Amino acid sequence: MKKQGLEVKEERGNRIFPVTDRSIDVLKCFEKRLKEVKVKIFFEEIVKDIIVEDGQAKGVKTNKQNINADKVIIATGGKSYPLTGSTGDGYEFAKRQGHTITEIKPSLVPLTCFEKELCLEMQGLSLRNVGIFIEDIEKNKKIYEDFGEMIFTHFGVSGPIILSGSSHLVRYKNLDNLLQKKKIILHIDLKPALSKEKLDDRILRDFSEMKNKKFKNSLDKLLPQKMINPIIEFSKINPEKQVNEITKKEREQLVHIIKDLKITIKGFRPIDEAIITSGGINIKEINPSTMESKIVKGLYFAGEVIDVDAYTGGFNLQIAYSTGFTAGKLF
Ligand SMILES: Cc1cc2nc3c(=O)[nH]c(=O)nc-3n(C[C@H](O)[C@H](O)[C@H](O)COP(=O)(O)OP(=O)(O)OC[C@H]3O[C@@H](n4cnc5c(N)ncnc54)[C@H](O)[C@@H]3O)c2cc1C
Repeated sequence: MKKQGLEVKEERGNRIFPVTDRSIDVLKCFEKRLKEVKVKIFFEEIVKDIIVEDGQAKGVKTNKQNINADKVIIATGGKSYPLTGSTGDGYEFAKRQGHTITEIKPSLVPLTCFEKELCLEMQGLSLRNVGIFIEDIEKNKKIYEDFGEMIFTHFGVSGPIILSGSSHLVRYKNLDNLLQKKKIILHIDLKPALSKEKLDDRILRDFSEMKNKKFKNSLDKLLPQKMINPIIEFSKINPEKQVNEITKKEREQLVHIIKDLKITIKGFRPIDEAIITSGGINIKEINPSTMESKIVKGLYFAGEVIDVDAYTGGFNLQIAYSTGFTAGKLF
């Protein structure tokens, strides 16, 4: 990218962005390079199928014409975010040629929760530097653990660490059944830098500064505004109680909630809202050193249409670039 004139920067969690923070600059960089190497682009033309004769790819059929070619690369993307043009056509083209498609599922997708009212109350609240883990409470098994940013939405939770968690959850065995039984829990540690003892000390200090205040007015320094009511509700401490009347047991309960806020996961947002699609063209049917189909000669695959996906951070783009490079370099 740098060689093509696009300066990039690395942010926390290995995430790469253009220094301008504008995606249009990435697009411009590609457009410039395509012009340089004289690539002919057919705009507003939809590929309807691949032309194959005697087991050899011969071109594509579009809604306007047949285009002959010695080789064809299917790089139609996944099925998620259809607004960007990727509606899953490539799966059908490959299927018609005898390829198998592994199950298509949303991945890197926001999660919905059973505590809808609670999430609605905290909608828009973005949390930085929180610890999370997603647990199967039937088996007491941690499915995913992370630290970073997340956000509450009207339906549940989203943000980088939630999206990464979703890509592990989507593959978890017997998931639908566990979700239905409310056995998948998101644990949020709102103060991961403080041990329970240190957090209790901190709360005691805050309380001693506002002895005559009501409990409901005592948490401003500790928690974001939108979170105060929900945490008070969870703690089951009477919000009207004077701070100096709060018992040690009640304080322990408050500490416990802040260190382990539990949200029951209901499921995933639809594939339309998933950043990537998990599943796709079976990798066993593709030669990894050329990206050529093992079924049809001269037919290649690149990008998200293949059954490969990764975390956010540019890794999915890297998959698209690397497979595209490999498929394209043999032309
Ligand atoms: C909101 C969002 C944020 C993302 N953020 C990140 C990120 O931070 N890091 C990361 O690594 N990945 C990210 N991704 C994922 C990444 O963009 C994709 O994995 C990557 O673009 C896949 O590249 P691709 O070339 O395989 O497919 P696409 O980029 O989807 O391109 C496929 C193209 O094929 C065209 N097409 C499809 N069918 C037809 C047809 N029948 N005829 C003609 N044209 C057709 C489509 O119009 C589209 O232009 C994000 C995705 C989204 C939606």
